[in-house]
Amino acid sequence: MKIMSEVVLAKSYLKDDGRKGGWAWRRSECKYYLNYLSAEIHRAAVNSGWWTDLKTGEPVDRNEGELIALMHSELSEALEGVRKGSKDKHLPHRDTVEVELADCIIRILDYCGAQGMDIGGAIIEKIAYNADREDHKVENRKKEGGKKI
Ligand SMILES: [Mg+2]
Repeated sequence: MKIMSEVVLAKSYLKDDGRKGGWAWRRSECKYYLNYLSAEIHRAAVNSGWWTDLKTGEPVDRNEGELIALMHSELSEALEGVRKGSKDKHLPHRDTVEVELADCIIRILDYCGAQGMDIGGAIIEKIAYNADREDHKVENRKKEGGKKI
């Protein structure tokens, strides 16, 4: 795992780009773009016929359990990529794990788009909630029974 390079990459995204406000200001931007991405991914999936009965041409009400199982399948493919240290077959300049995690996120955002969820808002709210959780604080995690992983 390339932990150091990913930390450097993450810091490059967080660098001051001259706009005011930092995270507090940008979270509304992030919420908007996550919801935009979800809508765009769902639109592309609809246009590709994934939400249409191919025999009748009618919209199909997809099974939610099946959609979540397909998200799991992408995570399993990511795990195999980690186990084998492989490159993706379709995007050979990228690691399998990176592409399969992208597939998983695409499936999640397609589902959220179909449900009309405010997934961007939920992510921003959950980040804020997690930041203040007692069971996520280092001092509490070090205690007996604290979360170690
Ligand atoms: Mg895949």
